[in-house]
Parts: sequence; C-alpha cells; structure tokens
Amino acid sequence: MIHLLDRPFETLPTWLAERGVPAYRAGQVTTWLFKRRADGFDEMTDLPQTLRAELAEAFAIWTTTVAAHQRADDGTEKMLVELADGQRVECVLLRDDRHHRTVCLSTQVGCAMGCAFCASGMDGLVRNLTSGEILEQLLRLQQLLGPDERLSHIVVMGMGEPLANLDGLLPALAVAASPEGLGISARRITLSTVGLPGGIERLAREGVPYHLAVSLHAADDRLRTELIPSNRGTGVRALVAATDAYFEATGRRVTFEYVLLAGVNDRVEDADALVGLLRGRPALVNLIPFNPVDELPYRTPGSADVARFADRLARSGLTVKTRYRKGDRIDAACGQLRRRRQST
Ligand code: SAH
Repeated sequence: MIHLLDRPFETLPTWLAERGVPAYRAGQVTTWLFKRRADGFDEMTDLPQTLRAELAEAFAIWTTTVAAHQRADDGTEKMLVELADGQRVECVLLRDDRHHRTVCLSTQVGCAMGCAFCASGMDGLVRNLTSGEILEQLLRLQQLLGPDERLSHIVVMGMGEPLANLDGLLPALAVAASPEGLGISARRITLSTVGLPGGIERLAREGVPYHLAVSLHAADDRLRTELIPSNRGTGVRALVAATDAYFEATGRRVTFEYVLLAGVNDRVEDADALVGLLRGRPALVNLIPFNPVDELPYRTPGSADVARFADRLARSGLTVKTRYRKGDRIDAACGQLRRRRQST
C-alpha cells in the first residue's frame, strides 16, 4: 500500500492518471483530507463508489495509531503516536486566547544531538520520520479541533533535530503551507534547530521564508559544547554567520532560543556574553526556563532570576520574550511523555 500522506500532491495525480481517472478527482481527495478532515475514503461522498473502493485498496491514509492522548485544563492536548514499526513520537496542540492554534511536531524518533538538558536525546537516535508520518501528526491534531477552530501555526519543536531530517520534513511542510493543503503561511511555521550550519544554508537556498529558531543556550563555545555536544564541530561564530546568511536570503529575523539553567548559564556574565554576540543583529531572543526532567541534575531558575536575565538583555537593545509554559502537567515538553510511557 502507498502511504497517501507521503507526497500526496505527486503520488495521487500520477496514480489517477495511470487509470484514466480525470485529474480533478485528486483535488477532491485532498480537499476531503486537508480541509474537511476526513478519516477515510468512505466519507468522500462526491467520488464514485468504485473509485473510493479502489483508492482504499491502493492507499493507506493512516499508518499510525494513537497510543495515548491527554488534555490539560488550558486546552493543550498531547498525543503519543505509535508508528507502524511500534516506535512512538509525541505531538502537541496548543490553544491560546488569541485564537491561535499551534501544533508542535516531531521529526525523528529519538535524537542524535545529545543535548545535556533534553529528554528526547537521552537514548540516541532511532530513525528519521517519513514525510507522511510528519504530516500524519498534523492531521491527527487537526482532527481534535472543533468546527470553528483552524490550525494557525506550526512549530517544529518536538522530538528530533529538524535539520537532520530535511528530506522528510520539507515535503510535509510544503503540503502544510500550500493553499491546496492546510494553507498555513510559511511565516507561521517555525523550525527550531540545534544549529547545523549546513542545514541552515540549505534552508536559505530553498528560499521558503520559514521562521528559523536556533537553540543557542550559551554564547561561548566552552559552555555551549558542554550543553550541546554538536557544537564541537561547529562553534558559535560559524553558527551565527549561517543565521546572518539566512536573514540575508529570506529577510526573516532569526530567533535565538536560550534555555535558562540555574547556576549554569543564567548569570550576569552569561547575559553580557549573549549581548556581545548578538548586538547589532536583528535578533529575537526567546528565554525558556528549564522544564525539569526527572533523571537530570539541572534546576529551573527562580522567576526573579529569569526577569533579571531578560532585563539585562532588553536594556542592551535585544528583543526578548520569555516563553510561556503550557502543558507541563501533561508532560507536553521535550520527549517526556514518551519516556514516561517507556518506563511504565
Ligand atoms: N532539536 C531542536 C528542537 C528541540 S525542542 C532544537 O534543538 O532546537 C525545542 C527547544 O526546547 C530547543 O531549544 C531545546 O533546546 C529546548 N529544550 C529541550 N529540553 C528542554 C527542557 N528540558 N527544558 C526547556 N527547554 C528544553
């Protein structure tokens, strides 16, 4: 069977053409899938019954099952999705009062980056997700929405390193951004990366103005390599140069994410080093107070320390936001639901 969500705008028209079915049928199918949130071919009532049956024999829409689903009081919903080979990944739907409906997607099972404070990479990388598996997370979360709700934003901040799986990710995002697909503007799609300069350069070449967020977490190489081992072969300077090139190519300001770890990277000197690195750049800084992970020794700074750090950056002219935490009571962060399920 063909996974329909793997490059649906290519496989479906080809398959139909081979059978002499008029091309507009492909549009009907994708409209059902992406706009009308259909679950199966049997719902696609404007297609001839025989065609529906043939499609159902040739194509699988869903290759995953939902292994767990949790909903928090603030409207955040989290799914643990089980893939055909039994591996599991997490994805999240976030609701906020401005009617934003944001989904957070995973791109890999596990992660090879091994960041010291992150739960997703603790057991290394298992495999890349396919395009279809990435798109399936999106559609499953879209199905949780009420009839008056629409997906407005995508953040690729789930499990895995997106720039290590661009071949899987980019076709899925192209469907998300296309008017025939989910119609979510590229500007409302954020890729968060550990900062692989080669991947950033490829994104810049593709020319699609996705919003890029780079996990910086330290401004000097010694500390950054301690927290993010992949920094060893890269270095902060080369990383920042790649983000400059991204800005030049796409006109999009880059966000720098900074996880605040008490006593590790939240001191005044750390703030000043960050200012020194980013000064003069049209950068946004996103502070993320550490979200505790059971097995790890790091601690979350107190709110006064977070405010002091933010203030120091802002006074130096940087644009700073502190990320509002949602869903932490349902483990909606950083590979924690998957781990908890593995250990029970
Ligand atoms: N691989 C991508 C996506 C990771 S998740 C990346 O490195 O950017 C999105 C953000 O959450 C990253 O900035 C990541 O460093 C951060 N993060 C990971 N574990 C965290 C934790 N326990 N608490 C707070 N932020 C965390």
